[in-house]
Amino acid sequence: MTLHIETPLLESLPLSVTAGSSVWLKMDALQPSGSFKTRGIGHACETYLAQGARRFVSSSGGNAGLAVAYAGRRLKVPVTVVVPQTTTERAKELLRLENAELIVHGASWQEANDLARSLVGASDAFLHPFDDPLLWEGHATLVDEVFRAGLKPDAVVLSVGGGGLLSGVVQGLQRNGWGDIPVMAVETAGAASFHAAQKAGHTVELEQITSIATSLGAKRVCEQALQWAQVHPVHSVVVSDASALSACERFLDDHRVLVEPACGASLALAYEKAAELEPFGTVLVVVCGGATCTVDQIRAWSQKYCPAAQGQ
Ligand SMILES: *Cc1c(COP(=O)(O)O)cnc(C)c1O
Repeated sequence: MTLHIETPLLESLPLSVTAGSSVWLKMDALQPSGSFKTRGIGHACETYLAQGARRFVSSSGGNAGLAVAYAGRRLKVPVTVVVPQTTTERAKELLRLENAELIVHGASWQEANDLARSLVGASDAFLHPFDDPLLWEGHATLVDEVFRAGLKPDAVVLSVGGGGLLSGVVQGLQRNGWGDIPVMAVETAGAASFHAAQKAGHTVELEQITSIATSLGAKRVCEQALQWAQVHPVHSVVVSDASALSACERFLDDHRVLVEPACGASLALAYEKAAELEPFGTVLVVVCGGATCTVDQIRAWSQKYCPAAQGQ
């Protein structure tokens, strides 16, 4: 048994026509917790439970926390999530729905994380949102499914926050003998910590996150992400918040699935016919999903950040 599900692999006609190549979607927005994070975090939680963990602790008010809460409910293990005061009502509501114990503490994620860490006792497991080999191993199952389906893409497009998804997908490509498939690592401006790391040749701490794509808002990527980029073709691409938002709206119309701007960033490459995709006949986009946005929120942001799109 796994906590994640095998997600649909769909050829997108609207995106293919727009992008000018055959665009396939790995629909991880349909994972039970609303994002791909169920894969890695589910695997990590099952492993920690087998090692004797009696409680799972997280400091994520985003999709990582939701995935931990989901895993805990399914495995019948209590979950404590410590989130900062800045966490949206929506996220808190979803965490409560999963029956997690919710502690609201501190003005920033750093403070919430410090408290969460201090609560971790000997029989508890702390779940990091992206920097844990167990997470990468779980995320890699996404590629195993594509491999088993018999579709070899010419490139993979995915979003990067702390680099856990990137690390897992590259691990999956490598373990299926697909070390030659390049990965487009997409971030939004204002959350581009992988871009900064690749440019500097080492991981860098961003001063602040200014993008609305909060699920991409890790100030520093994990070392593993950068290490993979040294042995596997990984190309960094940065898009605007406006592009990511517009992609969310178009994707909702085209495929009737609501995703966060964190995921819209990857979709934007196809919707905007990015030059980076031109050389490739078949492109796989990881639809990483995200459960923390409502339609109203996406619309409100669009009005603020995409004034040119109004009145279309
Ligand atoms: C966590 C998350 C990301 C980024 O994943 P990392 O492993 O942190 O790079 C992208 N999109 C969504 C929806 C997420 O929840």
